[in-house]
Amino acid sequence: MHQPASTPAPAPRPTAKFLSSKLVRRVDDTHDLARFWFESADFPNFKPGQYCTIGVEGVERAYSISSAPHERPLIELFVELVPEGELTPKIWKLKIGDAVTLRPSAKGLFTLDAKFKKHLLVGTVTGAVPYVSFLRDYLHKGASGDKFYLLDGASYYDEFTYDKEAHKLTVKIPGDVLIEAEGNITIKGARIDLNPDD
Ligand SMILES: Cc1cc2nc3c(=O)[nH]c(=O)nc-3n(C[C@H](O)[C@H](O)[C@H](O)COP(=O)(O)OP(=O)(O)OC[C@H]3O[C@@H](n4cnc5c(N)ncnc54)[C@H](O)[C@@H]3O)c2cc1C
Repeated sequence: MHQPASTPAPAPRPTAKFLSSKLVRRVDDTHDLARFWFESADFPNFKPGQYCTIGVEGVERAYSISSAPHERPLIELFVELVPEGELTPKIWKLKIGDAVTLRPSAKGLFTLDAKFKKHLLVGTVTGAVPYVSFLRDYLHKGASGDKFYLLDGASYYDEFTYDKEAHKLTVKIPGDVLIEAEGNITIKGARIDLNPDD
């Protein structure tokens, strides 16, 4: 019997689900904290404080972006290794040039509210990431008139990855950015020891 010619399988349709992105730089700050710079020509504009979603071998997680929008096509992330985690051990194995998936837009509502002029920013370790983006963006735009009070906490001094940069910012906007860090927080003379047993 004459069989009808089989229809060739359709080519996979281009998907808007992921952008291509590759690791272009990494700095290991401690044994379990590292900064990663991913390059993606197509990553659209975002608001400082938003997060992106990256994936390796099909495992995806959200990461706040520490770079500011003007630094695109680079996206800087500050990641803590969770040894038993699914994704972070895979991220730790990445080498320069390795590809990751990147969702095609940043998300999140944790952004700077222009209604307010005084901003109290509180975080620990990777929790300071959105604030780094706020401050880089603020300086890049040459904005002025706001006051930023950044309270950053960590268990160990070497976890203050962005403190040198933050201190530089205090020089650029004298009096406008207050950094109190390094294992204790001082607020108007009150000192809170984060590690009383250390
Ligand atoms: C909006 C958003 C922004 C985020 N931004 C950052 C960021 O800037 N930097 C960053 O490192 N992470 C960030 N995270 C967390 C990140 O998405 C992952 O959850 C984290 O990296 C762990 O992923 P994993 O697959 O290795 O571990 P999983 O397999 O998802 O988790 C394994 C276990 O570890 C726990 N766990 C998750 N994170 C930690 C941690 N830091 N310490 C100890 N235990 C943990 C989980 O609750 C779970 O019980 C963010 C999450 C969200 C929702």
